[in-house]
Amino acid sequence: MRVDIVTIFPAYLDPLTLSLPGKARESGLLDLRVHDLREWTHDRHRTVDDTPYGGGAGMVMKPEPWGEALDALATPNTTVVVPTPAGRPFSQALARELATRPHLLVACGRYEGIDQRVLDHAAARPDVAEVVEVSLGDYVLNGGEVAALAIVEAVARLQPGFMGNAASLAEESHEDGLLEYPVYTKPASWRGHDVPDVLLSGDHAAIASWRHEQSQRRTAERRPDLLAAASLPGGVEVRPSV
Ligand code: SAM
Repeated sequence: MRVDIVTIFPAYLDPLTLSLPGKARESGLLDLRVHDLREWTHDRHRTVDDTPYGGGAGMVMKPEPWGEALDALATPNTTVVVPTPAGRPFSQALARELATRPHLLVACGRYEGIDQRVLDHAAARPDVAEVVEVSLGDYVLNGGEVAALAIVEAVARLQPGFMGNAASLAEESHEDGLLEYPVYTKPASWRGHDVPDVLLSGDHAAIASWRHEQSQRRTAERRPDLLAAASLPGGVEVRPSV
């Protein structure tokens, strides 16, 4: 999968050289390139922002550098991902959707955001497959870079071969519509807290049943909205606990 990230702070994306994303880049599984938007400016100050039409606080990112960035990077298979608080809430389902795309171009906004015409123009370009506006959550960040990190990491780890053990993907929170059960490792007793007996029993059916029941209980307690969504038509089937 190819991912281009355009930002005015390329160093913000440095963590993508570490750990599993770093390995995926080294192995060629993830062709990830980070670009400085200012490469596509032509004035002495490398200006990327200007005052908003209509007045108001803050600055708006100018369309010209973004237009040139897309001219340089877009292909007919490109999905332009625009982090914005006004976008589709990011979820595992959306990560799975984006993971099927061959090329993501993540456009990191700053200031009051990107001139709307950049998005409208991108959506109409023949060399752009789609524009997906994505919100990381109902809060405001300083820029799209933190959202880009989250989106790229969640999408990259779904690429076949990214995880050493693909089974660990299937068992994670949100994969079956539920939160994951609590997990434990050695020692069996630590500071007066014991690992639940069933996990030491060796009875795999009992362990699976306990884990499913814990997942359901946690989800009901912490995220009842997920259970409601799972029981809607087209939602994920939630099996009754045994
Ligand atoms: N004025 C904008 C608004 O109220 O929607 C917020 C601009 S914010 C200070 C600057 C940039 O941070 C946005 O253009 C977007 O790229 C990014 N951003 C902020 N919050 C975000 C969120 N919840 N999800 C995704 N991106 C976000």
